[in-house]
Amino acid sequence: MKLTRLDDWLKLRADISLPTGMWIDGRSAAAEDGATTPLISPRDGEILTHLPAAGAQDVARAVRSAKAAFDSGVWSRISPRERGETLIRWADLLEAHRDEMALLIALEMGKPVTIAWNVELKTTIGLIRWYGELADKLMDESPRGKNDALALVTREPMGVVAAITPWNFPMTLSTFKMPAALVAGNTVVLKPASQSPLSVLRAAELASEAGLPDGVLQVVTGSGPVTGAALASDNDVATLTFTGSTDVGKQLLHYSADSNAKPVWLELGGKSPNIIFPDAPSIEEAIDVAGWAISFNSGQMCTAGSRLLVHRDIHDQVVEGVTNYLAGLRIGDPLDPDTEMGPLASQRHRNDVLAEISKGMQTRAQLVLGSDQPLDRPGWFVEPAVFTGVDPDDRLAQHEIFGPVMSVLTFENDDEAIRIANNSDYGLGSAVWTSNLSRAAQVSRRLDAGLVWVNCFEEGDYSVPFGGRKLSGHGGDKSVHGLEKFTTTKTTWMAV
Ligand code: NAD
Repeated sequence: MKLTRLDDWLKLRADISLPTGMWIDGRSAAAEDGATTPLISPRDGEILTHLPAAGAQDVARAVRSAKAAFDSGVWSRISPRERGETLIRWADLLEAHRDEMALLIALEMGKPVTIAWNVELKTTIGLIRWYGELADKLMDESPRGKNDALALVTREPMGVVAAITPWNFPMTLSTFKMPAALVAGNTVVLKPASQSPLSVLRAAELASEAGLPDGVLQVVTGSGPVTGAALASDNDVATLTFTGSTDVGKQLLHYSADSNAKPVWLELGGKSPNIIFPDAPSIEEAIDVAGWAISFNSGQMCTAGSRLLVHRDIHDQVVEGVTNYLAGLRIGDPLDPDTEMGPLASQRHRNDVLAEISKGMQTRAQLVLGSDQPLDRPGWFVEPAVFTGVDPDDRLAQHEIFGPVMSVLTFENDDEAIRIANNSDYGLGSAVWTSNLSRAAQVSRRLDAGLVWVNCFEEGDYSVPFGGRKLSGHGGDKSVHGLEKFTTTKTTWMAV
């Protein structure tokens, strides 16, 4: 990252103009009725720009033209290699505009610009390139069941893919969907969260510049209940992929049932247990990672280590270490490259997080760090909070707060740790810290979660799927497995 001072980023902010339209048919578009909504930065409450509030007629227009682009074959019937090369050019353009993209993310949802640049854009650009490179390496099947007939099992694109994404990683989580759907030959209509549409709009513009034909990637802006609902209910959408809250995910299943019964793929909430045994290879490292796991991205992570399960014998040492880590974080302006923790993404979300802390203070748990009051500065800032003595059945241990609020629970043995860890409607991330190989293997096997990290947290790669189970959803994104939901198999028999 070459811009190393706050002034560098403020200058870039002054130099760029922010998007004001949706991205439809390769150009910026307004809503048919001209409706717009202001976009407010969590950094300081500033109105950044106004963006179209797409109504049902705008969504229909985007979907119709995505369908026309699909049917025309301009993307779906070109060679996979050509599609891959376009994605790689897109990744190159995003790399060339990495500063601007990081700035947009910091402005729209408050992620510190250093993290946007180093983490979010690294994954975004890398994943688009990874799918681009995969394009011509996928194989179909020809099973040898019969001598007098030849069977071909081919994977074909679905048609129009709708993607609805959240604000916590606006680019990365949209990229968990877009390149996989595109490389398979689909066209895509994406609805980013109303809080964070800027980076995705700019990325779509760069995709057009990279040679993606018009209509192949559309971005519609607006609220969930209007724009998102219209998209999820559209009969021309062949498949729907979603990352967001469990409540909205469930609602999408209704929209599907009430329209064309499209498949709905859900990546939802979490309440991830992070289990520390006294035989962890390094208690100090486990402590630092536990602090990181609840404060990274201001705790706005579906995989946040929000339930810290600590063996009774090391409880005091771990709590002291974690509170010291969190109290030492540099909270500040997301445009300052030294900032480690920025604001929460919106005023409403900040108020919800503080209300959860307030509710926690009414229970038997003790608040040993943080407060139910906002930080006294412009923007939607809170201090990290830690509760100890949390009852495993209590709201603090069950409800996803989606902020920097940690609940500490204790256990005495492996069975109790696993029982508490699995006592959740969610099943997304989980971590175990131990140097005992048998314990690591046994506990990992018994954890009811889509992701298990042993002596690490949040490890991941383009080549492995990411996703959960239970109310955390199904049908992981990334990797070759991430392609399955965007293709449908066709069996063709030929008499020979
Ligand atoms: P959200 O569910 O409120 O919104 C997600 C998206 O759905 C947004 O684009 C929103 O506009 C849209 N939406 C809202 N109501 C809708 C409706 N009625 N119909 C159609 N679309 C609608 O979630 P959020 O607040 O943006 O994000 C936080 C949630 O996302 C948390 O629960 C978090 O755990 C989850 N999340 C999950 C993962 C994962 O991979 N499992 C990753 C990140 C975030």
